[in-house]
Amino acid sequence: MAQRSYFDWNATTPLRIEARDAIDDALTVVGNPSSVHFEGRSARRLIERARDQVAEFVGARSADVFFTSSGTEANMLALTPAIETSAGERPRDRLLVSAIEHTSVRSGGRFPRDAIEDFPVDSDGHADLAALRDALTHSSRPLVSLMLANNETGVVQPVAEAAAITHEAGGLIHVDAVQAAGRIGCNIAALGADLMTLSAHKIGGLKGVGALVRSSEAIYLPEPLIRGGGQERGLRAGTENVAGIAAFGAAAAAATRQMAQESENVLMLRNTLEVGLRAITPQAVIFGAAAERLPNTTLFSVPGMKAETAVIAFDLEGVAVSSGAACSSGKVQPSHVLAAMGVLPGLVRGAVRVSLGWGTTQADIERFLNAWRKLATALSKGHPMTAA
Ligand code: PLP
Repeated sequence: MAQRSYFDWNATTPLRIEARDAIDDALTVVGNPSSVHFEGRSARRLIERARDQVAEFVGARSADVFFTSSGTEANMLALTPAIETSAGERPRDRLLVSAIEHTSVRSGGRFPRDAIEDFPVDSDGHADLAALRDALTHSSRPLVSLMLANNETGVVQPVAEAAAITHEAGGLIHVDAVQAAGRIGCNIAALGADLMTLSAHKIGGLKGVGALVRSSEAIYLPEPLIRGGGQERGLRAGTENVAGIAAFGAAAAAATRQMAQESENVLMLRNTLEVGLRAITPQAVIFGAAAERLPNTTLFSVPGMKAETAVIAFDLEGVAVSSGAACSSGKVQPSHVLAAMGVLPGLVRGAVRVSLGWGTTQADIERFLNAWRKLATALSKGHPMTAA
């Protein structure tokens, strides 16, 4: 196959070598982690080592890490009125979510529809904290959910400030750190988060593994989504995905060691990409450019472009990018994130997301810019592939 450049790290990352090794090891272990014999204890050891590694990654205690089947499931598990900080508490009566959350948060978990309220973001894509403060007055027992970084724009959210405001109002805060993890610091205590969601496949682990992390044992979730054999201390029944969890731990440990260096390299390459992009198309708009963003993400548009056709044109040039958020149905939905930022529909239609990672090289950036030069020329001539 011709050489390709992968620029869709926010959709999923390649498997880290350390994760692959952990999978190979785990596949040689036959036991069920709930069994008491040697084989079972060997499998249990792999899971508990991974729990330690994920805990260290976010500065939590191992006992506060619960493995799930995905980030989506961790979000669903967290977003429930039944979160308690002391036994037998009244349920949470309101869920406040930012307008740019991932759909798994926007769907509201186990809250009834009429108990879910959005709070807006500004034109840079930052959560509007004054609006959050106001929304918090509508409830005596709110749960807030705010992502640490947005999956489309990469804009980093003011989570620590939101946590302080939420706690002052007697609320709890859940933080979806799926995109931020491995790219910027995610220390749960420093952020003031009560609950945090992680997903293995965004940090070099396998797809289909995630975790919900709580700040301390004082946060209690009495209602699991999946009941049965009592695995994950009763919070998530079902025999554990031992190889997937072991790989998650290994990926988290590698990210803990390497994040600073990786993010510095990625930022340098992303800056080169954006300088080149602006030189080729000065009219290009980079969303959230004025805000603090993840070092790896560029979401851009030019007037008159159609993202879905641009993605195909890039693909034909050996460059994998995405149009806004990846969507499982293959349907192209206008981005709710850009709509919430007040971006005009003509620009929303053309939004292309380019996301980098530890494997991105200068040669990839050049391939991207060459492809973009061709596309931009076609676009300027009103080529049917790209014109609106
Ligand atoms: N939250 C955010 C911000 C995401 O970007 C994603 C996936 O793209 C998820 C949650 C869902 O994670 P998973 O793919 O593990 O279900």
